[in-house]
Amino acid sequence: MIRWTRRRFVAAAAISPWLAQRAAQALAVEPPARPARERAPTLDIHIHLMGAGDDRSGCVVSQAVQKGPLFKLLVEKLQLRDKAPTLDQAFVQTLAGQLKDSGVDKGVVLAQDAVYDAQGRPDWRKTHVYVPNDYLLKVVAQYSDLMVPCVSINPARADALDELNRCLEKGVRVLKIHPPIQGVDIAERKHRGFFRRCAEKKVLVMVHTGHEHSAPVVDIELARPEKLRPALDEGCTVVACHSGTGREHDRPDMLQEFFRLLRDYEKQGNLWGDTAVLGSYGRTRDFARLLADDLAKSRLLHGSDFPFPAIPLGFAGTIGATKAAVLQLEKNLIRQDFALKEALGIGRASAEQAYRLVVGK
Ligand SMILES: [Zn+2]
Repeated sequence: MIRWTRRRFVAAAAISPWLAQRAAQALAVEPPARPARERAPTLDIHIHLMGAGDDRSGCVVSQAVQKGPLFKLLVEKLQLRDKAPTLDQAFVQTLAGQLKDSGVDKGVVLAQDAVYDAQGRPDWRKTHVYVPNDYLLKVVAQYSDLMVPCVSINPARADALDELNRCLEKGVRVLKIHPPIQGVDIAERKHRGFFRRCAEKKVLVMVHTGHEHSAPVVDIELARPEKLRPALDEGCTVVACHSGTGREHDRPDMLQEFFRLLRDYEKQGNLWGDTAVLGSYGRTRDFARLLADDLAKSRLLHGSDFPFPAIPLGFAGTIGATKAAVLQLEKNLIRQDFALKEALGIGRASAEQAYRLVVGK
């Protein structure tokens, strides 16, 4: 280490202002203040990629969904018609822009597989929303500092294992299945091999659980948390998306089942739940039940369910009318959802937990 004498300091200052500055720092009596401890990185584990297939994305949104009120509301709320020549492009632009400015460091972005028939062939008549894995991978590659890809593979497809292996070769480590929309019973014995492979390769398996209101459902019984047991028993790390919740009048009450499952797999430690859609209309009661359960609260991972919007005003009773009104005005849906959950006492902790699980320490 250089010992700074006054002569050396003056000489150095004459040679270079940069050196002079460094020298002055070295001679300073007070050591520079320690930088504030860096905050831990955060992740939103549940963000949908969508498209209308109008820019060769291969995405599908059925006429039934396109004519529904939710699709129209999303297109309007995100101003998708004004941003780019196609809905495909406008959605990607909006998603990337909002995620970048959301306050979370990374997002897991989801594809959506089709419905398959008894022979394992795609059934396009019954498929209302479809986002191909290759399109997802292409989009995520453009934003690899921000996005983590989550492919979607319906285990009922004839080539499910081949598709899983193909995605593994591309470096994919997160997978999503939506049993009630994709019409698949993941508890069936014939799918054990699929989950065994996921466990072997340490693929994080995300499965929709609980009630569903954003797309036509084949059978809501397929969304029961109990259906996760075989995948958990094979050793998979499983995220029960939406933590088995529903709206107040939804039956059956699947949240009880999620609580039971958490206790049964507490020692094994491979079951998590996410908070996707829990900031939206109608889920306030089940969100409160989740937060009141210490074990459940400790297993929650932050997820927004973008583009489905949170409704902070619905939580005015808990977070106060002023805070709710301020959050309601936020235009960035990912930021809005994160801030609402932070106000509810679960935002940052669950987003840091999600980052550790998906990206590592
Ligand atoms: Zn979702």
